[in-house]
Amino acid sequence: MTDTNTNYVNGEWVSSATSETIDVANPANPSEVVARYQQSGSEDADEAARAAADAASDWADTPGPERGRILRQAGTILADRKDELTEQLVAEEGKARPEAAGEVQRAIDIFHYFAGKAADLGGTVKGSSSRDTTLYTRKEPVGVAALITPWNYPIAIPAWKLAPALAAGNTVVLKPASAAPGPAVALAEALDEAGLPDGVLNVVTGPGSDVASTFVEHEAVDAVSFTGSSQVGEMVYDQATDQGKRVQTELGGKNPTLVSESADPEEAAEIVATGGFGTTGQSCTACSRAVVHEDVYDEFVDALVAEAESIDIGPGLEAEMGPQVSQSELDSTLEYIDIAQDEGATLAAGGGTPDEYDSGYFVEPTVFTDVSNDMRIAQEEVFGPVVAVIKVSDFDEGLEVANDVEYGLSASVVTDDHTEANRFVDEAEAGVVKVNEKTTGLELHVPFGGFKRSSSETWREQGDEGLEFYTIEKTVYDN
Ligand code: NAP
Repeated sequence: MTDTNTNYVNGEWVSSATSETIDVANPANPSEVVARYQQSGSEDADEAARAAADAASDWADTPGPERGRILRQAGTILADRKDELTEQLVAEEGKARPEAAGEVQRAIDIFHYFAGKAADLGGTVKGSSSRDTTLYTRKEPVGVAALITPWNYPIAIPAWKLAPALAAGNTVVLKPASAAPGPAVALAEALDEAGLPDGVLNVVTGPGSDVASTFVEHEAVDAVSFTGSSQVGEMVYDQATDQGKRVQTELGGKNPTLVSESADPEEAAEIVATGGFGTTGQSCTACSRAVVHEDVYDEFVDALVAEAESIDIGPGLEAEMGPQVSQSELDSTLEYIDIAQDEGATLAAGGGTPDEYDSGYFVEPTVFTDVSNDMRIAQEEVFGPVVAVIKVSDFDEGLEVANDVEYGLSASVVTDDHTEANRFVDEAEAGVVKVNEKTTGLELHVPFGGFKRSSSETWREQGDEGLEFYTIEKTVYDN
């Protein structure tokens, strides 16, 4: 039996007022409970929000370099715990070890990156029409930020919200996803050890419909940053804007890779397979549609099927591709596989659960061909390792099909033709556009966000732009 983790509120590790707990099972072996967390309710969320509000003014007044020192120290503590955190991430979420290690490293790098930014949030000296006036802008924190995060990057996403929020002088309430809350709790442990003052960060685990929605509605909360599904995110957006709060939502994707007639089909298949099957297809930027020119279609499909069939599936500590995170995510993927076949798509690879694992949420990397763009498999986010291949007769049609979805997070093109690459960059309706690269994979110092239903569009995350959501500009006339 595992120990029960507690919430982190006002600098103390405390049990929930509900006295209830959530068990987190190993997705590769669900009979194994790997961790237990508080199943908190609105009373706990309320206490956390009040603690964050009480701490806000002192933290805002803490000099930026001191805030940066704490973030840097927390990054170093995370680095010292990297192996343990990698194993925790594999155990709770099921991610393959190299991907999990990469994600933990990303969280460490994010803390170090924003530690540097804390000392210099920016601001500009302006010319004034009066010689006696010094005119300048400065950036101030927004106040209390509520961060609501998904399970698919359970350490990197909390880190990429938390580090800029704290760097800019905001206090925080954080509600991590219930499927894998441990890595976010570890961020609180590192910050606590690094000397973060009480109340500046508060982490409350429990159901989103209870804890997170209390944060969204709470009078003490000034800004809400949400990453998760479009269904929940759009509801959170409406709730938060109705309350007059600043809100940022980063949501789902249905990301295409367009394969031109000039592409090498094998290279294109490798790009699509890495983007589509990496992290078991559970990335918001996962490639779930390959839009392929008819001249290279057959060769491309053969190569993609070969890629899918060569992937070594198994428990994340040992294999190249781990399980899905939960029974409900596995069921949802299997349901989409049935829907695609009912709609008339051809199952070219995978489609089932691997024989050697009779427990665990494993599904085979799956390829559908003969997909038309009006099928649900071509339009809806599956969030599993399923790629739909759509044949097109020229580049114009390919661009049209690539853009013809409600989402617009990431899009890539594989081409040898510079003019086509430029057209794709111009015309792709996506927040991230890549040429001869997979749709997944982001650098931490550049902005990230989507178009259409993938994002609230107003704000970006990561990079300098990621700080803007957490700051408000003041113009000063000093005479
Ligand atoms: P989700 O079900 O929408 O949950 C996201 C977060 O919202 C969780 O913490 C969840 O809590 C909470 N939540 C649930 N109901 C809520 C409510 N009524 N009010 C407020 N919060 C609520 O998403 P997920 O399954 O964790 O994550 C997968 C989705 O995230 C995919 O659609 C993926 O594309 C998207 N995603 C987007 C990005 C991006 O940057 N665009 C990045 C990663 C993932 P519980 O866990 O307790 O339910």
